[in-house]
Amino acid sequence: MPDIDTLIDAETIAQRVKELGAQITKEHAGEELVLVPVLNGSFVFAADLARAIDLPLSIDFFGCRSYEGTSSTGVVQTTLDLSHSIEGKVVIVVEDIVDTGLTMAYMLDNLRTRRPAKVHLASLLSKPARRKIEVDIDYLGFEIEDVFVIGYGLDFDELYRNLPYLGVLRT
Ligand code: 5GP
Repeated sequence: MPDIDTLIDAETIAQRVKELGAQITKEHAGEELVLVPVLNGSFVFAADLARAIDLPLSIDFFGCRSYEGTSSTGVVQTTLDLSHSIEGKVVIVVEDIVDTGLTMAYMLDNLRTRRPAKVHLASLLSKPARRKIEVDIDYLGFEIEDVFVIGYGLDFDELYRNLPYLGVLRT
């Protein structure tokens, strides 16, 4: 295992995810939600966030990819579509990180054509310095500097997703 510097430890992540879950629970009281985790990077965050929300909800995964290694290709590919209609539903997209914003802009436009009642965005991380297109994040875990992070679902060439914390590879 190469050296990894801890950026955000597991306890801090858990605390923040609980807070986001409580905020969503409060702001959507009386509603039924559809969580749409964007695979692959958000699977850990989505699993924890779902359990921190005390409301009836269903989960439908959406797969897309815009990264190879550590650089954005700028091309967003759909790798898995939703399996149910979201027409008339309150949707919360769950993303690992908003970087340039291209993936989320594509994703949100795509979902809005399906006529949901509302679409919100929950993202564990945001790198505002890298933004190329504006994206509104309704529920944000942490704002971070322009560093390439791994762990808690995020990969480097498909590895490190299982780290329980967020880290940066030491080069
Ligand atoms: P965007 O389209 O906003 O530039 O990129 C979004 C996607 O790029 C994220 O869903 C994530 O998969 C990947 N990404 C962006 N920054 C990082 C990073 O620091 N670490 C990892 N592992 N993936 C990143």
